[in-house]
Amino acid sequence: MPKGNVKAAGIPSSRQIARPLLAWYARARRDLPWRRSRDPYRVWVSEIMLQQTQVERVKDFFVRFIAAFPDVQALAQAEEHDVLRLWEGLGYYRRARQLHAAAKQLLAEHGGRFPHTVDGLRSLPGIGRYTAGAIASIAFDVPAPIVEANSRRVIARLAGHAKRLDGPSGDTPIWEIAERLVPKTAPGRFNQAVMDLGALVCTPERPLCTACPLAACCVANQTNRTATIPMKAARRETKQLRETAVVVWRGGRVLVERRGPEEWWAGLWDFPRRATSQALAPLGCGKPRRLGRITHTVTHHKITLEIVECAAARAGRTAANRAWVPVAKLATLAMTAPGRRIAGMLEQTSR
Ligand code: SF4
Repeated sequence: MPKGNVKAAGIPSSRQIARPLLAWYARARRDLPWRRSRDPYRVWVSEIMLQQTQVERVKDFFVRFIAAFPDVQALAQAEEHDVLRLWEGLGYYRRARQLHAAAKQLLAEHGGRFPHTVDGLRSLPGIGRYTAGAIASIAFDVPAPIVEANSRRVIARLAGHAKRLDGPSGDTPIWEIAERLVPKTAPGRFNQAVMDLGALVCTPERPLCTACPLAACCVANQTNRTATIPMKAARRETKQLRETAVVVWRGGRVLVERRGPEEWWAGLWDFPRRATSQALAPLGCGKPRRLGRITHTVTHHKITLEIVECAAARAGRTAANRAWVPVAKLATLAMTAPGRRIAGMLEQTSR
């Protein structure tokens, strides 16, 4: 039964939402390092970092990245290795490579300035509808909607949208509603307020509807369906993988190899890996000795990594994607997450 005298199932209007939401945002907004200016570069970097990554985790990475590359020009002129090194630990390295490529394109084709339109922004590598909407609305006051994890949930509940949101077109109705809701005045603050409401009040489990500025016009709240909207996505199964990472020693140095463009962690350094069933002889390895085991999860795969070490049995030529590096120098390389953990183990034991 609908509560109070709100019309059942009526999607609230932008007018109904904007005023109470912006008033709430003025007193409750999160203080985040990228919100201290409306510089499109900072908005862009933060939004790319926030894809697939929690806000708390992004904060320090953002501050370090901006200190190293304060503007488009600095990023465009940086070496890819230095960009990846600063990204190390955030994961999804394709984001960093695309950020770097987009900075180069901005410098070459736009004099280092950002296009002001959603379409112009979307012509840059790695900038999709969401990121373009964020930059355009926050930095340039364009009334463009944005839909990400928090706003998707808030909008689905506000509108009482009880259908699945996963799958290729699951988000389409949410984008359409978001398009109608975003106001012409202060669209950037409105978008950020929706995201903050999702993060602080309209949480996935047990939303705090009694403290919500939109409780009176929210269809899910008014029809007691906050527990079932949005519909839960089907869980993807996690695949188990077993691999062996090999620390090959030669004259006080260890062998590392750079991941190829089609591999996970493309462009980053790692210790050579083999499926556990594969022989280690092609690595020029003597008899291996077990060092330990680590587990690591990456995009629905849980990898159990046996770590062994061995001495190089023969000198041989070193392939172009490989290098022999002293353990003390591993800290200067951009490495995969498991590679960094193994490097940490070696640093501990060589002290
Ligand atoms: S009333 Fe509840 S369900 Fe609706 S937007 Fe607010 S917190 Fe979310």
